[in-house]
Amino acid sequence: MSHPLSFRRYRLPFRAAVRTAHGPWRERAGLLVRVEGGAGRTGWGEVAPLPAFGTETLAEAEEALAGLGGAVDGAALAGVPEHLGCVRFALASALAPEAVGPPAVARLAVARLLPAGRAALAAADRARAEGFAAFKWKVGVEGIEDELAMLDDLLARLPADARLRLDANGAWTTRQAGRWLERCADRPIEFVEQPCFAAAAPGATRVRQAEDALLGLARDFPTPIALDESVAGLASLRWWLERGWPGIVVVKPALAGAPAEILALLAAHRTDAVFSSAFETAVGRQVALRLALAYRGPQAPRAVGFGAAALFGDTRLDGPPATPFLTAADVDHIDAEAAWNALS
Ligand code: MG
Repeated sequence: MSHPLSFRRYRLPFRAAVRTAHGPWRERAGLLVRVEGGAGRTGWGEVAPLPAFGTETLAEAEEALAGLGGAVDGAALAGVPEHLGCVRFALASALAPEAVGPPAVARLAVARLLPAGRAALAAADRARAEGFAAFKWKVGVEGIEDELAMLDDLLARLPADARLRLDANGAWTTRQAGRWLERCADRPIEFVEQPCFAAAAPGATRVRQAEDALLGLARDFPTPIALDESVAGLASLRWWLERGWPGIVVVKPALAGAPAEILALLAAHRTDAVFSSAFETAVGRQVALRLALAYRGPQAPRAVGFGAAALFGDTRLDGPPATPFLTAADVDHIDAEAAWNALS
């Protein structure tokens, strides 16, 4: 049975530009999707592409949705190619929100995102006062010497039992990554995210070089390495998992594909996964967090990367503010319809 499909485009400036190794990021563009289901149920989804992570562009996503002619069903979803991971995420979310299954854990810790550079210090003080115990710091933005010098200042501001994760967004050379990992070896660093080779995708010539470098770093240093940019789509994620990647993978559900397929792939490889935001609105976040709650990995769940402060300054699109822990009830309280209405 085919269900009426509609979608709305959004373009939302961030309250404060996000500084990353890719440069400042000032606004988020995407689409909210609405599917009229059976028995009066309405399903919601979000297309939030990040072409810098190898996803489809917004124009490609919009064209694919328009090509469905205003209606969708399971067969139409199955016909959307895997490289349109953001479209597949949105349609599967809206058509079959129950497909991810019930929560497997009672609550998830949330990692507070700290800004790049020295601004991280004051932000860490505030986050600590709010009760956060997991933190992520963007590195690879300022000079390596300056950032290495800041690391101990930052660690000194955090609670004694805190774990800090670092995200380089692929900015370092293999040699710089080695220097950082040496520095991290005797410090409470949970993991280092995408130290280098953010751009290598399966099939590219550089991928073998990236594989050698990342596997080498994972082998040579005790601090775990998490792949993020390298595994943004389901095809890349599968590629690394089938090759026996020994570290962690960061899963941004909104970029990867149909939620149930993501879960099945992770479960098949008993993956050590960290679930993370792609700076989507509350609509995509609700689905991504349900997926995170439903995943039962080989160990206690790691803190989820949904700890950015209010992104857009509109509570209907931001959803509830980030808190140190999230339960299934908190996630159920996110109001997708209010976000949709905010765009009218
Ligand atoms: Mg990352």
